[in-house]
Amino acid sequence: MTTFPRRIALLGSTGSIGRQTLDVIRRFPDQFQVVALAARSNVALLAQQVQEFHPGLVACFADTQVVEQAARTQLPEAILGPQGLLAAATYTDADIVVAATSGLMALQPTLAAIGAGKTIAIANKETLVMAGHLVMSAAQHAGVSILPVDSEHSAIWQCLRGETQNEIRRLIITASGGPFRRTPLEQLRSVTVEQALAHPTWRMGAKITVDSATLMNKGLEVLEAHWLFGIPYEQIEVVVHPESIVHSMVEFIDGSIKMQASLPSMHLPIMNALSYPHRLQAAGTGLIRDLSWPNVAQLHFEELELQRFPCFRLALEAARLGGTYPSVLVGADEEAVELFLKGQIRFLEIAELIESVLELHQSIAYPDIATTIEASAWARNMVRTLSKSTVRHI
Ligand code: MG
Repeated sequence: MTTFPRRIALLGSTGSIGRQTLDVIRRFPDQFQVVALAARSNVALLAQQVQEFHPGLVACFADTQVVEQAARTQLPEAILGPQGLLAAATYTDADIVVAATSGLMALQPTLAAIGAGKTIAIANKETLVMAGHLVMSAAQHAGVSILPVDSEHSAIWQCLRGETQNEIRRLIITASGGPFRRTPLEQLRSVTVEQALAHPTWRMGAKITVDSATLMNKGLEVLEAHWLFGIPYEQIEVVVHPESIVHSMVEFIDGSIKMQASLPSMHLPIMNALSYPHRLQAAGTGLIRDLSWPNVAQLHFEELELQRFPCFRLALEAARLGGTYPSVLVGADEEAVELFLKGQIRFLEIAELIESVLELHQSIAYPDIATTIEASAWARNMVRTLSKSTVRHI
């Protein structure tokens, strides 16, 4: 798709990526138009967004009576429940569907949007991690593009423009290392929710911030890169880069390495996905800060310590094993992080629970959507059960 204006359906409009997508659209009214908005439960913010952007379709997909009541009062036209999310994903007027809902909610709507021929700007990791084989083959079959919104994948995607697949030696994904890169290992036992939520370089939602502290997020990004770019796991590496200025790199067979850099900003990958193959004039929008190399002064790169970040190791193991293991990884992590955020388990128990659940799992090869979702739900249940039976030493 090369023409403007582009009509956008935004799934997850009140979350962190959703709000930043609307920042971009607000600054480029000639290029983009919001035609559908879907949010989980923040009815008040969704109502404000509807007033500002006047979409043709509004959906509120949380399944609780409180939310439904609020939506009926403030947004009487909204389609409620999961069918609202599906309706937004397949809305006739939309050219691009931005999949920015968190967790596995995005899986079915994304597949439906592909079936409806929409270009997908994908910010949701779980969809590709759990069902990359289904999503990429459906996209190929329908002839639609899956464009990355994740900053690392946007970087790789930009480095790969004009290049040839069989001339790639490896993808090098950068990781900030999160808030516990230097924390003595014994202190990780007593990490609080507040400490886990204080990310040094990125501002994000709670779930992904905890995933960035355990480096589960980086593990999921390896799977995401594998599916998006069709590169085997042996050719994907991760390097710690605390400044988060180089967002990722690609090394080619001649030894040349391309990297993409900017000050940390999610607005930039969002702009890239929405405007592809063009670039937007960021000057004067207030969205992108100028990078001054003398001010940056130094960039650091370090090896990732597997012992410090067991969630990262578990993600790579699940990736290599394939089948339903990645779905179990996602489900177990969602539940464990939720329990941690509620103060019901300790930080290190996130990895311990995920590992136990992966060990108990009997994988199914080439899972379909139903099997994928079942495996993930099974994992959530197992984490709940195991967390209750674990003896606490808090
Ligand atoms: Mg990322």
